[in-house]
Amino acid sequence: MELSIVVPIYNEEENVAALYESIRDALARTSLEYETIFVDDGSSDSSFTLLKEIAAQDQRVKLLRFRRNFGQTAAMSAGFDAAKGDVIIPMDGDLQNDPADIPRLLAKLHEGYDVVSGWRKDRKDTFITRKIPSLLANALISRLTGVHLHDYGCTLKAYRREVLDGINLYGEMHRFVPALASQVGAKVAELPVNHRPRLYGTSKYGISRTLRVVLDLMTVKFLMAYSTKPIQLFGKWGIYTLLAGCLSGGTTLYMKIFDNMSMNRNPLLILTAFLLFMGVQFIVLGLLGELNARTYFESQGKPIYVIRDRVNLG
Ligand code: UDP
Ligand code: MG
Repeated sequence: MELSIVVPIYNEEENVAALYESIRDALARTSLEYETIFVDDGSSDSSFTLLKEIAAQDQRVKLLRFRRNFGQTAAMSAGFDAAKGDVIIPMDGDLQNDPADIPRLLAKLHEGYDVVSGWRKDRKDTFITRKIPSLLANALISRLTGVHLHDYGCTLKAYRREVLDGINLYGEMHRFVPALASQVGAKVAELPVNHRPRLYGTSKYGISRTLRVVLDLMTVKFLMAYSTKPIQLFGKWGIYTLLAGCLSGGTTLYMKIFDNMSMNRNPLLILTAFLLFMGVQFIVLGLLGELNARTYFESQGKPIYVIRDRVNLG
């Protein structure tokens, strides 16, 4: 199997038939051997019934249905796990992404990349609640992860399957796959793709997603930088805070001895106690983190490195 297309579906009954047809038509022009995996994320409308009818007529259409709504990331993750293709391409189920872009994404991938990220250069969404937050989020994500992309949020991307094999997704993290993949050595490229306004059904997200993305970004940044060495982060801040505590304590003493200022009237004393306490907490957190890192990596037999080639090693 050359290609798996993964589509998360949550209450998209007006879109599924047209989407299926446009995927079929776009790929009919190529000679690719492919499958389309629709993941019904606990829809309460007739999406699943419609998809089942389509699947009965076309063996290339595969279907998964969640027991309840688990979210887009979970749906995509389930699709990735079921996918058999050498290349995996997720896309939205609301016709906003254009299946005609799939051959272009593949061509770019075959230029020697492991991930090709779609960029909705001419995005058809609302300006204030969507495009502005997205602009800021992309700048922030690019800066913090060091993987510079214009459009992390675009679902339409192409991945080599090896890249996805090593990545587990939680929360809202599907958008961070290019960054996580680059962390394990994947080569990432970007390609402008078509984007269309949503004609049927409603968007499942509002402005509150921005906050969730920021929180996930913190997790991703932490995992990328410190998952194998948490003490390096917490210990550093622990030491800084302890030093600040000592400085503040020293100042309190100085003021008592030389300025005759009583220590219990000096607010710096409270600051000192607070900083020393915080410093110890940070260091202990770092040590607990180290313990957790060992459990995480060793219990799963996960190495802390990624190998590209092995020569004469069997
Ligand atoms: N989706 C999903 N589960 C959810 C929310 C969304 O599977 O809990 C699917 C939805 O059906 C669509 C895709 O994820 O295929 C993107 O959702 P949407 O179009 O609402 O997002 P937007 O384009 O507005 O960012
Ligand atoms: Mg959409």
